[in-house]
Amino acid sequence: MLSGKSAIITGSTSGIGLGIARGLAASGVNIVLNGFGDANEIEAIRREIADSHQVRVLYSGANMADGNDIAAMMAQAAQEFGGVDILVNNAGIQYVAPLEEFPVEKWDAIVAINLSSAFHTTRLAIPHMKAKSWGRIVNIASAHALVASPFKSAYVAAKHGIAGLTKTAALEAAEHGITVNAVCPGYVMTPLVEKQIPEQAKARGITEKQVISDVLLAAQPTKRFVTVEELSSVVNFLCTDHARSITGVTLPVDGGWTAH
Ligand code: NAD
Repeated sequence: MLSGKSAIITGSTSGIGLGIARGLAASGVNIVLNGFGDANEIEAIRREIADSHQVRVLYSGANMADGNDIAAMMAQAAQEFGGVDILVNNAGIQYVAPLEEFPVEKWDAIVAINLSSAFHTTRLAIPHMKAKSWGRIVNIASAHALVASPFKSAYVAAKHGIAGLTKTAALEAAEHGITVNAVCPGYVMTPLVEKQIPEQAKARGITEKQVISDVLLAAQPTKRFVTVEELSSVVNFLCTDHARSITGVTLPVDGGWTAH
């Protein structure tokens, strides 16, 4: 159903984004990988995805904090693939600290990468999608788009912002065959979460083991981490025509966290 379409997945050199890129490639979608990391490792991933699924895979090192980089990535995708059919806004960073100690530069970076980047990619992708009367935009938000946790002011604010952007874009694009949805994962054991465990331990004055049991999994009634594969399946489904009436939603994939 998706074979021959093209997708940009921001922040797809690691974690959830990489899993989504693999899942879409398995459905025959040509892929633009984006994100940071070791050049040789990224090239190995690029080639492995292309060879495994017989699709074209490009890499863009665009910095999602930089509007000019984002415009260049969108132009590269349009030129190479003749448009952008699927946009997955996934790039994101985290920082954990009490509000009154929150570094201003971390706030600015989180808002730029986790929120403003999606505004830029979306505004630039929509004309391509309108031209084909078909498009899928999936924003990887978070349970923190729906509820808050202490010490994550910038992340929670940016993710709530993504929920608003999702709903607004969905309304504007609805008559053009374009859906815009947000997927709201609970905790997934990726580098982003591994890195915050010591930060959480420091901010809360507890051990790292206690962070996993008493902070991370305490929020999730299933008491297990959500997996990258589960999220990739949900994104794939939202991109199919079976999901064409689903738009403007903030879909929790969080083991029951936001049912509390
Ligand atoms: P990750 O750290 O494994 O991957 C983040 C990706 O974003 C990497 O490819 C990285 O290179 C890229 N990236 C970071 N800054 C960038 C920038 N300035 N420009 C371009 N790329 C950049 O993280 P993850 O856990 O896979 O997170 C992916 C998304 O899922 C994020 O938006 C995150 O907020 C969201 N999320 C994660 C969890 C979780 O528990 N891991 C839960 C809910 C939501």
